[in-house]
Amino acid sequence: MTQKRRNNTEHKGGRCSFCGATDAEAQLMFNGADGSMICSTCIEHGYNLLVEHGIVEGSKKNSKKSAFKPLTREDIIRPDRIKHFLDDYVIGQDAAKRYMSVAVYNHYKRLVSQGATDDVEIDKSNIVLVGPTGTGKTLMARTIARLLHVPFSIVDATALTQAGYVGEDVESILSRLLQAADYDVAAAERGIIFIDEIDKIARKGDNPSITRDVSGEGVQQALLKILEGTVVNVPPQGGRKHPDQKYIQVNTSNILFICGGAFDGIEKKIAQRLNTNAIGYGTELKQRIDEKNIMQYIQPQDLRSFGLIPELIGRLPVLTYMEPLSREALRSILTEPKNSIIRQYEALMNIDGIKLTFDDEVLDYIVDKALEYKLGARGLRSICEAIMMDVMFDMPSGDIKEYRVTLDYARPRVDKLS
Ligand code: ADP
Repeated sequence: MTQKRRNNTEHKGGRCSFCGATDAEAQLMFNGADGSMICSTCIEHGYNLLVEHGIVEGSKKNSKKSAFKPLTREDIIRPDRIKHFLDDYVIGQDAAKRYMSVAVYNHYKRLVSQGATDDVEIDKSNIVLVGPTGTGKTLMARTIARLLHVPFSIVDATALTQAGYVGEDVESILSRLLQAADYDVAAAERGIIFIDEIDKIARKGDNPSITRDVSGEGVQQALLKILEGTVVNVPPQGGRKHPDQKYIQVNTSNILFICGGAFDGIEKKIAQRLNTNAIGYGTELKQRIDEKNIMQYIQPQDLRSFGLIPELIGRLPVLTYMEPLSREALRSILTEPKNSIIRQYEALMNIDGIKLTFDDEVLDYIVDKALEYKLGARGLRSICEAIMMDVMFDMPSGDIKEYRVTLDYARPRVDKLS
């Protein structure tokens, strides 16, 4: 193999035999004896794979120090420990936590045992989380990534479009992950991607548009391969592909995808299905259905009735739901998690040497209002901001060392919001 540093005018028309990058796109191109070529990006990628599989030892010179260590058998965390960790950050949502813990555990077992189980090929356990806004879907995915020390990124399905339409190509999902991995491709390839608002790309019947695939079905189709596992040429800076941009190849086979969506109105579809099924069985099955919490009966076919295509549902085999947050859960979210909203305000004021306290009735009032706004825990934050605005403006310039937030103080400030 001979190496030649190319400038863009030399050997015009040469392409990497692996990724198809042109001379102009590659930093360095190497010639093989039979006229084949390989670009420096593919060599680097191959080298990283060899290091990752322990075939060669990573040399300090070549391997940029990455914040993400390769995964070993010892790193795998049992489902009960995953759930326990989630409990510190996410209030309630027991069913979802159990499903997620098992799915993540299986996913990482599959990762470290690759090649070891010759006859049984374990499928990916991509997850779909169905539940109202502000109930902790993103928080759950982010917390899992934190526990596993893997790169994590969030994308919004509504921003994605089919290739060739105005908007972000589906490949851009991977650019974000690469950024989160600090361009450590091997780390990105075992990362977690949270695709939010997956319900918004549901098929909605005819809705022609010249600029965007409004029906969403095209985007669903485009997602299939990425969810299942394929090698994607990723433009590193994200956004649209450009002839001058160098691609980074990312294999998505071991990336865990967690999709979240509110699926507004899906309860009706579940209920319809349950009622239809119940007819043949008389009242017995009907009585067993807990109508107050219909989400617990969610099945893949309900996602289909909602407008997700069967192929996409098939690639998201783990389906679980998030419950609407109860009064008690919202109250706990205010004060209990390690970085709860109230603790954050206390810490902020503490920096100015002020001891901040909230009357219990203020906390109850905040929860009442959040329930009224129907924004889940998202409402808590905006209500607290309205209460705290004046305090945070005035206090730092005064000489008060303690401040107690009372209901008389809080109520008029929150009422201004509605
Ligand atoms: P979703 O993705 O379901 O719309 P998020 O996870 O983005 O909701 O939640 C928004 C914010 O509300 C989070 O940053 C978190 O502070 C808080 N939150 C929501 N649900 C919970 C929960 N179950 N436990 C603790 N905090 C929560």
